[in-house]
Amino acid sequence: MVRRGFFPGSFDPITNGHLDVIRAGLTVCDELIVGVGQNPNKTPTLPVEVRCALIERIARELPQGTERPATVRAVGFSGLLVKTAREMGANILLRGLRDGADFDYEMQMTGMNAAMEPELETIFVPARPANRHITATLVRQIAQMGGDISPFVPQAVAQALATTKSPS
Ligand code: ADP
Repeated sequence: MVRRGFFPGSFDPITNGHLDVIRAGLTVCDELIVGVGQNPNKTPTLPVEVRCALIERIARELPQGTERPATVRAVGFSGLLVKTAREMGANILLRGLRDGADFDYEMQMTGMNAAMEPELETIFVPARPANRHITATLVRQIAQMGGDISPFVPQAVAQALATTKSPS
């Protein structure tokens, strides 16, 4: 059976913390689909196509295992997460855990998702200590105020945000 993972989030922008989860996902999945959430009520800093392109480009540069190289695709989605995961043919749902707040929320979500889609197995990836403080929200705020985000994001993201005028 192909182990196809689905890693959903907003990725506005993808950070080094998200990348840790993708890296870990590649050790357990044959294929990984990163689901880039679209919220019609929010104006993103980066359009969904740009977020997807960045994710795929950055993932391509990750070192691959020699035995069975996994592929990473990024797709925009809106609506119910488990429905999208099913449509994508995913059997693994990947989520990162940074702290107790993530844990409490994710455990609730996992229970609800398992009730709706029992075949979808959730796998939690603990955040790496070096990157667990990173959130996309703070990265956006720092970038908007002209701060240096390069310690928190891949280089391609820092470049993309430097050339993007964010909505105020
Ligand atoms: P953010 O909260 O940074 O805006 P998302 O809401 O898009 O990110 O989160 C998508 C997934 O990425 C979630 O499972 C979240 O726990 C995980 N994640 C976000 N930041 C990190 C991090 N620094 N380390 C590990 N996982 C993370």
